[in-house]
Parts: sequence; structure tokens; C-alpha cells
Amino acid sequence: MLQIDGLTAGYDSAPVIRGLDLEVAPGEVVALLGANGAGKTTTLRAVSGLVHPLEGAIRFGGTDLRRVSASGRARLGIAHVPESRGLFFGLTVSEHLRLGYRRERLDAAVAYRYFPALEPLRDRRCGLLSGGEQQMLAVGRALARHPKLLLLDELSLGLAPVIVEGLLPVVREYAEESGCGVVLVEQHIELALTIADRGYVLSHGELALHGDAEQLRSNHDLLISSYFGEHTELFAGKRP
Ligand code: ATP
Repeated sequence: MLQIDGLTAGYDSAPVIRGLDLEVAPGEVVALLGANGAGKTTTLRAVSGLVHPLEGAIRFGGTDLRRVSASGRARLGIAHVPESRGLFFGLTVSEHLRLGYRRERLDAAVAYRYFPALEPLRDRRCGLLSGGEQQMLAVGRALARHPKLLLLDELSLGLAPVIVEGLLPVVREYAEESGCGVVLVEQHIELALTIADRGYVLSHGELALHGDAEQLRSNHDLLISSYFGEHTELFAGKRP
């Protein structure tokens, strides 16, 4: 579904990710891990079209995305939930779930089905929601677009662990039921690898380690040292 080959991307021609290979199959949840500044957000931005690659290719369902704009990628089914959540504090929950891009129709029922806690909050303005409720709305709004690929940037930011533990399994469930592929950027390594099928670790913009989520979880020391780029020669599982 998503295939990234040799991606180098950054800002003002200065690369912050270099030579990245990554792939996501339909219905698969892939965790993208790494220390602060490793390049995780930049990778998601390159996929959704907010950052232009300097080298390499990104294909989605076989289509080369090089000439596809960010809005064109959204129409193809790529939904990006940024760290900032992308919500409007003055709008209510139900207004968010009606507010499509141009003529796009959102399926609010999907959002309420996966996040039933949003239903009684339909008429509440987003600015009055708790952090966890806002995050449910941000993800629910992405699901209401029936995405084929979901890019989730640090859902856990600023949330209590118990809230995140409730949120991430919903993402897993949605991926399994809909066949949507998911790239999950997360600082909570354990939690991310509990719900992911596979994981990739970026270190200083390069792929340091990747493999099955279970393998990565059971090699905790290797996983942690890969954060510092100490194991670039070791790859758990097969390379895509
Ligand atoms: P974090 O976990 O802290 O969010 P990250 O792995 O998502 O980190 P990125 O946000 O992709 O990392 O940042 C990678 C590098 O690119 C960092 O050194 C950062 O300072 C730099 N960077 C990010 N955004 C910009 C920008 N708009 N202009 C210039 N440099 C940027």
C-alpha cells in the first residue's frame, strides 16, 4: 500500500531523513519510533505531501506521489493527524464531523462507532473538551474520511497513559476491520509495539533498526541502543 524507497527529505534543501526505506501493507499497523528530532514527523509530512523529497520515491497503491499535491493525496485516501491535532476550538464535535474538504462528505457515524464517548459531546465546542476527548475527535475525524492510510503523529502527547491505552487499541481495531494501513509515530515504545505489527526505529534521520513488533519488544536493549544509532548494521526481521 505504502512504499517508501531511499527517501531523503528535509527543510531548505538540508536533509533530516536520509535513504529511508519503509513499507506498510493494507490493514497493517507500523510503529515509527526514535528519539526527539530523529525525523519521524518529517517522514509523515513527506508522505502526506507537506515536505518535498530531495531524493527517493513514495508510492501509494502503486501510484508515484511525486506530482500529487497534499490535497490530492488526501483525496487518494491518506489521512494525517498531526501532533497539533488540527482542530478548531470554536467548532463543536458534530461540526468537525461534518466539515469536509471542499465537497468531501464525512461519515460521522464511523467516528461515533469507534469513539462512542464522542456521541454525548456532539454539541460541545472543541475548546471545552479534555485533551483525550480532543484526540478522539482528531482521530475520529480522520476515520470519518474512510482513509486507506492513516498517519498518526504522537497521539499520546500530553495525555495520561490510561487515556492512550484506551485510544491505541481502537486504531488497531479500525485497521483490522477496514484494511486501512497505519503509520504510528509514538514515544511510548512499549505501548506502540503492543498494538503494532512491525516497527521501525529512526536515529539521526536514518533507519537504525526494524522488524516484527514482538521481536523488537523482546530485544529491549537493542531497541534502546538503536535510538542512539549504535546498531545500524543490525536488522531484526527481513528488510523491506
Ligand atoms: P519529535 O519526537 O521531537 O517530534 P521527530 O522525530 O518527529 O521529533 P522531526 O520533527 O521530523 O523529528 O524533526 C527532525 C529534524 O528536523 C529536527 O532537527 C528539527 O529541528 C528539524 N525540523 C523540523 N521541522 C523543521 C522546519 N519546519 N524547518 C527546519 N527544520 C525543521
